[in-house]
Amino acid sequence: MNEHGDALHESGIPTEAGRGKDHIVLHTETVIRQLLERYPDTAGIGIGTAGRVDVDKGRVIYATDNLPGWMGFELQQWCEARFSLPVVADNDANTALAGEAWLGAGAGLSDLTMLTLGTGVGGANMIGGRLHRGAHWNGGEWGHVVFVPHGRPCNCGMQGCIEQYISGTALTRLARTAAGRDYASGRELFADYERGNEAVIAVVEQFADNLALVIHNIHIGLNPQAIIIGGGVADARAVWWDLLEHRLSVLDPVLDVRPASLGNRAGAIGAARLAMNALIEL
Ligand SMILES: [Zn+2]
Repeated sequence: MNEHGDALHESGIPTEAGRGKDHIVLHTETVIRQLLERYPDTAGIGIGTAGRVDVDKGRVIYATDNLPGWMGFELQQWCEARFSLPVVADNDANTALAGEAWLGAGAGLSDLTMLTLGTGVGGANMIGGRLHRGAHWNGGEWGHVVFVPHGRPCNCGMQGCIEQYISGTALTRLARTAAGRDYASGRELFADYERGNEAVIAVVEQFADNLALVIHNIHIGLNPQAIIIGGGVADARAVWWDLLEHRLSVLDPVLDVRPASLGNRAGAIGAARLAMNALIEL
């Protein structure tokens, strides 16, 4: 990326995260080398990663078993030593919001919250134009706010987390229970919704109710100028966005809720932006 927001070159490779830290590191290095070969005068590197990141130290301080060995990794230190360039590493929900705030759905606004509805529920907050990461780097973890006391068990160890009700994984699981059939993807589920499957319609309506309440809570707690909804479930919003807007019009008529506009590229774009910000601050 350059400072005008132009993506100069893109390169991608599956992380194959299940194969562990060394494999992720190897693939990360390959992608960065491919980019640097095209643009050897690159001034800095930004990285968005799953897990909780101490941005001051560039260290992954928490990661789930989805990324074996990732917890504790000195990501920034490794990358700076490898490429002799300044590096910023941050959580991928934070970098996605930084991207949307720069070039996407939140452009021109300074107070934003973003929810990413995918396998889990990612979240990030921006206050006064700066990402608000909190004292322990877990600010914005809306997915693990408890929504239903003693509710569905969550892989974080708690019960009833938001993630268990409005993520894509939760939606397919709830629909499977209600409709008595397996859904390999959200697309299949929403196709059944559009065919008029009553069990699936009830699940999607409950999802819209739950999402509206989560948004209401964010609106009351942080009062951002806009709340941005991204992730795979949001990509299928043609099916359910009207349901959500109807519920919000009753709950909070002033609310500004927007679909994310940068898709999967938001995280990379935002990571580049954070690297530029760090260079400016040096
Ligand atoms: Zn949880």
